[in-house]
Amino acid sequence: MEKMITNQIISRGIKDTQVIEAMRNVPRHLFVPENRRELAYDDRPLPIGEGQTISQPYIVAFMTEVLDLSPEDKVLEIGTGSGYQAAILAGIVREVYTIEIIPRLGETARKRLEEMGYRNIYVKIGDGYKGWQEKAPFHAVIVTCAPGKIPRPLIDQLTDGGRMIIPVGEKRGIQKLVLLRKDKSEITKKEVMDVLFVPMIKDKELRA
Ligand code: SAH
Repeated sequence: MEKMITNQIISRGIKDTQVIEAMRNVPRHLFVPENRRELAYDDRPLPIGEGQTISQPYIVAFMTEVLDLSPEDKVLEIGTGSGYQAAILAGIVREVYTIEIIPRLGETARKRLEEMGYRNIYVKIGDGYKGWQEKAPFHAVIVTCAPGKIPRPLIDQLTDGGRMIIPVGEKRGIQKLVLLRKDKSEITKKEVMDVLFVPMIKDKELRA
């Protein structure tokens, strides 16, 4: 764990001490399948079932850092997966709302986070494209699956001054990680990195 923090996180330029502390406090091996535990702190994403993956530790740290979070913030995550990213966020902010479209993954993550004692993470099974209107607005939105374009409802559900980090581009290999900021109703976007995420699943694909 400490090797992961030093070699993958700090040496690659992550500076925010609350992000580094949060990464130290979450045992990543508890979020990967038992037969992959020895790989849990490696510099790579890992399969978590249903064709999905838990992101590489550095990407988790990077996306968390660029959101520039404060302890009072309320954050929305799209793509709960294993629940690891949600746990990292929950160590920094007041409340984390997270949506997973594959029921089995969402239920497993909810149970895992509950057993680990998290009381500020709320998991919903559903289509994250639409966001979580009843709980909006959010100070920050983090999307961990890639849509073809930025979902409008997620922009609408940001506070004034809200930030979003999201991989955009459906074709594998040509996704850009975009940092979006909403001030009054002015939207600014910046491409910050090339990335490779699983595609955002459309509600109708799952039911088909
Ligand atoms: N943040 C996760 C990694 C998730 S991988 C972690 O820390 O482990 C991306 C996840 O997004 C997958 O679990 C996938 O099922 C989910 N996903 C894909 N399309 C979605 C959608 N439309 N709404 C919500 N979740 C979605």
